[in-house]
Amino acid sequence: MTNTKPNTKPTPNHTKPKNGPHAHRNLRILISGASVAGPALAHWLHRYGFTTTIVERAPALRDGGYAVDFRGGAHLSVLRRMGLLDAVEAARTGTGSMAYVNELGKPVAKLPADLFAGDVEILRGDLARILHDATAGHTEYVFGDSVTSLEEDADGVHVTFERGAPRRFDLVIGADGLHSATRRLAFGPEERFVRHLGVYCAIFTTGNHLGLDRTGHAYRTANRLVAMYSARHNTEAKAVFYFGSPELGLDRRDVVRQQAVLTEQFTGNGWQSDRLLHDMRYAPDFYFDSVAQVAMDHWTRGRVALVGDAAHCPSSLSGMGTGLALVGAYVLAGELAAAGGDHRLAFARYEEEMRAYAEGCRKMGDGVARLMVPGSRFTAGLLNRYYKLMPYLPGKDMAAKIARRAAENITLRDYTAAEVRTAPAVRAGR
Ligand SMILES: Cc1cc2nc3c(=O)[nH]c(=O)nc-3n(C[C@H](O)[C@H](O)[C@H](O)COP(=O)(O)OP(=O)(O)OC[C@H]3O[C@@H](n4cnc5c(N)ncnc54)[C@H](O)[C@@H]3O)c2cc1C
Repeated sequence: MTNTKPNTKPTPNHTKPKNGPHAHRNLRILISGASVAGPALAHWLHRYGFTTTIVERAPALRDGGYAVDFRGGAHLSVLRRMGLLDAVEAARTGTGSMAYVNELGKPVAKLPADLFAGDVEILRGDLARILHDATAGHTEYVFGDSVTSLEEDADGVHVTFERGAPRRFDLVIGADGLHSATRRLAFGPEERFVRHLGVYCAIFTTGNHLGLDRTGHAYRTANRLVAMYSARHNTEAKAVFYFGSPELGLDRRDVVRQQAVLTEQFTGNGWQSDRLLHDMRYAPDFYFDSVAQVAMDHWTRGRVALVGDAAHCPSSLSGMGTGLALVGAYVLAGELAAAGGDHRLAFARYEEEMRAYAEGCRKMGDGVARLMVPGSRFTAGLLNRYYKLMPYLPGKDMAAKIARRAAENITLRDYTAAEVRTAPAVRAGR
């Protein structure tokens, strides 16, 4: 893995709090979503002396799931500054290259590891667990609930929940992903911000019946791709399906209908398709969603801000979302601390710092979707041939280099001056 030195520049004077040290305002912060961006934000806010509550819709922390990756200096630098790089590296999947196979399962081409798995690859649920455990001692976690309304006044936000009693917070941050409820409540309906990229994706855990050893196999046909990769030291595997389709308007919670659609799409598709469709019915976890991006002119409004996929999801196929969520949390918390809790100043600085970076990461997701499932058999065959020849071509590392450049295209400010203002007990415990 790369070990790029942290790229730091001092916080400029105009972000310094006007009221001097210990002048934090807006101390009580509600975060919606306990996956990557939410707990990472809570980690930093606590270090700067804020008090955080995280509300998560799922009844408990969502374990396992698919593999996500970090690539390049900015991502690794934030993990290192959080003191979590070792824990993340210890839980890495160690997945190597991915092979494209023919109908008989014979490898015909290879996708290099750095393109497929970045510098450090980890299961999303394992990452969420590490972040949760690092924050549970100081953050209030409320599982099985969701924000239902946000009413802002001059001093704060009155928040109502599906289950819990209404509460007041100074600020509310939506870290609740692609289908963010916070975004809907504060900015408007999802259709205004979420763009379907013409591809659907399904993922679930299954047995490693192919005996894959830290690798994956993918089988591509016209408009479809089915794949398996090993996980958790080869003791299990993840089954992955992609297919091209216009928006289907499926209910996101209707798993029966989603599985029926997948069955229609992949029955008789060849290789492991039928076997995996059978396994799907017994999977402990089943994820199905549109491959989509989020584009917004602003990520903040009044006392509400968005972070991670809720603000700028670059799509699940970009390989950028997790690092982007982590960097966004670092910047948002840092700017809040640097501004002494002045949300107007901090939110403006957050948008300014993150805009170009998020845009660059989003571009990575633009073309990948259609490349993943080319519309015709001819193009699918051509792509397989290209991957086969790729190791011998002069531009063989180009795609990985472009991805790395996008992931590193931010100069992380050093917010440690803001950290000095936090309570001594917080500093001692870090
Ligand atoms: C199939 C797939 C493969 C991916 N592969 C990669 C990859 O290889 N590399 C990479 O970098 N990224 C990858 N990603 C993207 C990555 O998972 C996300 O970018 C990243 O998890 C963003 O983190 P987040 O915390 O912003 O949002 P999420 O991880 O989506 O978390 C949102 C959280 O909010 C919760 N929530 C939702 N609604 C509510 C509500 N109303 N109230 C309270 N809580 C709520 C959810 O339960 C969830 O815990 C992939 C994504 C998918 C779906």
